[in-house]
Amino acid sequence: MIYQKHIGPAETHLLEAAKEFQKCMQCGKCRSVCPVFKEIGNELYVARGKNKLAEKIVSGDLQITDRVKDAINECLNCKTCSANCPAGVSPEHVVLRLRWYITCKEGLGFFKALIFRQIIWRKWPTTIGAISVGVVHRLLFGIGPKNPARYLFPLFGFSKRRFFPTLALRTGQSQYPEVVPSKKGQPIKRIGYFTGCAGNLIYTNVVKSVVDILTGYGYEVVIPKGQKCSGTPVLANGDYDGARMLMEHNFNLFRRYNLDAIVVACSSCGLALKKEIKLFMDDSEELRQFCDKVYDINEFIEEEIKFKEDELGKLDYKVSYHDPCHLVRGQDISAEPRNILKRIPGVQFIEMKDAAVCCGSAGSYCLTHYDTSIKINNHKVKNIQDANVDYVATACPTCVMHIQDNLLQHDSLEQAKFVVEILADSLRVAGTIE
Ligand code: SF4
Ligand code: SF4
Repeated sequence: MIYQKHIGPAETHLLEAAKEFQKCMQCGKCRSVCPVFKEIGNELYVARGKNKLAEKIVSGDLQITDRVKDAINECLNCKTCSANCPAGVSPEHVVLRLRWYITCKEGLGFFKALIFRQIIWRKWPTTIGAISVGVVHRLLFGIGPKNPARYLFPLFGFSKRRFFPTLALRTGQSQYPEVVPSKKGQPIKRIGYFTGCAGNLIYTNVVKSVVDILTGYGYEVVIPKGQKCSGTPVLANGDYDGARMLMEHNFNLFRRYNLDAIVVACSSCGLALKKEIKLFMDDSEELRQFCDKVYDINEFIEEEIKFKEDELGKLDYKVSYHDPCHLVRGQDISAEPRNILKRIPGVQFIEMKDAAVCCGSAGSYCLTHYDTSIKINNHKVKNIQDANVDYVATACPTCVMHIQDNLLQHDSLEQAKFVVEILADSLRVAGTIE
């Protein structure tokens, strides 16, 4: 039993997992909601099975084998099980603790250590790598998305069916000074902007939309150049210490700027900075103040900006909305992005079926478990097609990436876009922002 052994960092993760799985009544309700279980149908892959598995590891009845690791890695961290569990269990935390436990016991391994502790931590290799991929992508796919160059993808471990977004040739952060002044004179507030890696390296139009909206409405926007990854992919892949280093870095960095609020346009980064950081850092008044200042951009806009009718231009768009797991269940935000879309003149908002069901992307899950993630996403694409819209709006880069990929695979014309981009389109049509 763990209770009789020496308690080191690894065992601490098991004790934290035990606090959760001990609440499980084994009722099986999670079987009816888990997206992975619905596709694979194996008890080991559902929350109840994972709780049982964790219990056996803690009691010493089960060793960490490849099959056990496979079961632990088959989880989207979508939080659907915890949102529906009658006993209040958070199985995704059991899963994360087991991943962290295994890394403590077995080490990170060469590739994860290289990626998390060098490439992501140092940031510049990620930036140079992304820009280089952006150049190669344009050269190879210049003649269109069905270019046969995709037959090279399996050499790099990717499915040849896959459609990747085009990476930026210039990062979002480098397009602005560190402090972007208000366009309305004296600033109302000083807002920090955590762009996230996807905003910085891929979806730079989201960065532009956020900056244009906030500065256009009289806010000063601070984009600290030293910001690093929020730690989300690192923590999800078992590297507790790597994620802690990143979170401590961003916490110490943003605190230096005397900010009134920090906005994030990525649901997973927002969750990391608002809540998950508390799993990695000791509780303190400073930490609580920091977390209280973090807002998803949709939440911030809804709370802060009072749009006048003539400030929003008409867009003849039919739009639906997909709830990212880390926004709807991670941060309890669902009405705000919908309200923004419904307020835009001309936008016809159509609620799709199962909007809050996971799209299967789950950050790096759609890299490591592509076939299952696409099976899960097929339901999402069907619901988007049935809604008969031009755009599916959302608030998470990996959801945009994964949904757009599968829409293209289905030859569907709908486009995935961020809510904040559609809002910026409307404000530009009216001439409210540039
Ligand atoms: S995790 Fe919750 S829903 Fe699933 S079996 Fe346990 S108590 Fe039931
Ligand atoms: S977090 Fe999602 S994928 Fe993981 S066990 Fe729960 S419902 Fe299944």
